[in-house]
Amino acid sequence: MEIKKIKLWYKETIVNTAMKALEEKNYAVSSVPTKSDALKLVMGMIPEGSTVGTGGSMTVSEVGLLDAIEIGNFKFYNQYRTGLSEDKANEMRTQGLLADYYITGTNAITITGELINLDGFGNRVAAITYGPKKVIIIVGINKFVNSIEEGIHRVRHYAAVLNSKRFNRLLPCTETGKCNDCHATDRICNHLLVTYRQHKKGRVSIVIVDEELGF
Ligand code: SF4
Repeated sequence: MEIKKIKLWYKETIVNTAMKALEEKNYAVSSVPTKSDALKLVMGMIPEGSTVGTGGSMTVSEVGLLDAIEIGNFKFYNQYRTGLSEDKANEMRTQGLLADYYITGTNAITITGELINLDGFGNRVAAITYGPKKVIIIVGINKFVNSIEEGIHRVRHYAAVLNSKRFNRLLPCTETGKCNDCHATDRICNHLLVTYRQHKKGRVSIVIVDEELGF
């Protein structure tokens, strides 16, 4: 078999295995080929007039959802809107926790259907756990891992380090490129959540995109 075909087989097998596992764990799961398909799909899932919250995610931004929701007919609690004071941004984070819809990404996802997330403030992990009526998680093909342990390693030693750099923080990891489990005031990784399954069937939807998205 050609190398290209073997790689395609591997990717499809991983995604199909994960989709089946996620459905068994009460998620509504879809898979789309591209970012623009994901944008169309997610926008179609949120009725006009809904309140919408969001949690820190490069994936959501890369898909174009922040911009699309901002200009749409929604009440969007967007803490990333330019010019917001710290107090106002915090108010948005809090209001997002009671929104009709919450859109975010995940730092890692196992092929057995667990999500692993690491937060600075903790609003995103709170929303995934409880609060918003519906949560939509968009995930790129690069976020799949084989186990919870591998996922935790990925988020602590890769995603968190790259996110620290993205925020231009002066931290041990932005000096050395590896996590030093620091005690810095500006530490971006404070709350680690492993989601084994969802309690309420269909509350959380997962949209898998066949592209590399986020860190
Ligand atoms: S614990 Fe500190 S050093 Fe490690 S990734 Fe987080 S911010 Fe960087």
